[in-house]
Amino acid sequence: MMSICNIEAEIKLLPIHEYAFLKSEDLVFSEEVRILCEKNQCGMYGTCWACPPAIGSIEECRKQCMQYEDGFLFTTATKVKNRFDMQGWLDARKEHEKLTDQVVKIFRAHYKDLLILSTEGCMVCKNCTYPDEPCRFPDRMYPATEGYGILVMQQAKLCSIKYNNGPNTVTYFSLILFNRRNNKEGS
Ligand code: SF4
Repeated sequence: MMSICNIEAEIKLLPIHEYAFLKSEDLVFSEEVRILCEKNQCGMYGTCWACPPAIGSIEECRKQCMQYEDGFLFTTATKVKNRFDMQGWLDARKEHEKLTDQVVKIFRAHYKDLLILSTEGCMVCKNCTYPDEPCRFPDRMYPATEGYGILVMQQAKLCSIKYNNGPNTVTYFSLILFNRRNNKEGS
């Protein structure tokens, strides 16, 4: 069976800030996170296929996650000028999504069928097709981790990953769910 060590060796070459492997049974879900989505705290609610309501109820999202046994949570931490540096935040998010693509490529080379969750919204197309047409790139569209009802702050703590990396630093998270036994080499 493909060893996690082999994946780790490849992942360590990427500019990931911190990471942890976890079991999906240890995922921290909360209905409250969805309430924040509905209050449109990040401004992405109902704007794309990657966010609620398009991704379904918290229960549906949780069920989807539970089809996987294993998870890989990771962060990037990027310096910005100050908390009003919107361009800095946007650039940091773009870099994080680019890195997520690279991590996904490694996992896809080794495992069949992944569920990939990342930052809020979707940055793939300039204009999202939501809600009129289906998503143009379902393979590149990563739903929002918190949109899925995962309490990232608590999840990070449980995984010994820092949620906050200090002043003027933006920390973004992605989560890849997979099944170790579902590796492409076969067991
Ligand atoms: S890939 Fe394009 S169509 Fe699909 S959710 Fe993202 S922006 Fe929308």
